Amino acid sequence: MPDLLPLIDSFGRLHNNLRISVTDRCNIRCFYCMPAEDVQFMDRAELLTFEEIERFVRVAVPLGINKLRLTGGEPLVRRELHKLVAILAAIPGVEDIGLTTNGILLAEQAEALYAAGLRRINVSLDALTPEAFKKFTRRNGFEQVLEGIKAAQRVGFDLVKINAVSVRGMTEEEIIPFGHFARDTGAEVRFIEYMPLDADNAWERGKVLFAHEIIERLSNEIMPLIPEGATDRNAPATDFVFADGIGRIGFIASISQPFCLSCNRIRITADGKLRNCLFSLDETDLRPLLREAGSDDAIAAAIRTSVAAKKEGHEINTARFIQPDRPMYSIGG
Ligand code: SAM
Ligand code: SF4
Repeated sequence: MPDLLPLIDSFGRLHNNLRISVTDRCNIRCFYCMPAEDVQFMDRAELLTFEEIERFVRVAVPLGINKLRLTGGEPLVRRELHKLVAILAAIPGVEDIGLTTNGILLAEQAEALYAAGLRRINVSLDALTPEAFKKFTRRNGFEQVLEGIKAAQRVGFDLVKINAVSVRGMTEEEIIPFGHFARDTGAEVRFIEYMPLDADNAWERGKVLFAHEIIERLSNEIMPLIPEGATDRNAPATDFVFADGIGRIGFIASISQPFCLSCNRIRITADGKLRNCLFSLDETDLRPLLREAGSDDAIAAAIRTSVAAKKEGHEINTARFIQPDRPMYSIGG
């Protein structure tokens, strides 16, 4: 009889949230995530198949996992991703599936994803002019992302969220345009503090534009931002709304206000490595268990062991911090 106790770690955190990376490939090259050139991608044979991902989720759900998010790399470059959404949506106990995408291929896939059962989409967009977009992503594609956002809203996705990484020296010019964008489009704009997960190892604390600085600018130059009560105490974002009720802005202040103590997430990389934290230095290779004849009990035990070993927090603000070898695109953000 498998052990069905919930996934609680040694700091009392209950884990119900799984981020699934479906590929490490990407069609742009954000400087805070990927190297500019010569990216070493995983061999296709290394990627978990849809069947292997399904099996992993079927084992994880009875342990208490009920929220999934598909990510990457760029998840929409994985062929027929909507089929994976449909497979996962059909698993009893899966209550919520989200997707994080750069939006480049979203306009052409939004309808199929919605039809497959996806309801929540976060689109990453760091800037609101084509020139600034290219500085962040080292590629063109700004108009395609805007089209993708419009398509997602048209198809009927729940509140579309925009993720903008906040980088000192770059994001300042985008703050007010994003405030107006949130008010004009109804999308929630969430600023994510730049984290040390870049492939170039160029992150420094001085390059992070902090949430409180953005709140101050928006409040002074548009109108006061009012904090919203948290609907999900495990959500990493703190949400605000402009004082007239129009325009939602969120902040993921991973550096200035780490939320590790309420973290409820585990992750599986596209090549089947289980990670208990974005910043963990260890991971558990589940692919042999998923691909060869590992039992469900063995997979469940590996998940438990990983959760039990989770550290208290990321330690970015201490001298002890060591940046993981895997950059963001290879972990799955
Ligand atoms: N390609 C998809 C996308 O960009 O939305 C999904 C994967 S991406 C790694 C997931 C999220 O992580 C994106 O919102 C991206 O902006 C964010 N991200 C990547 N590197 C980051 C970093 N160094 N610091 C903060 N956020 C980062
Ligand atoms: Fe690609 Fe997303 Fe990384 Fe940008 S953040 S390079 S879109 S995986």
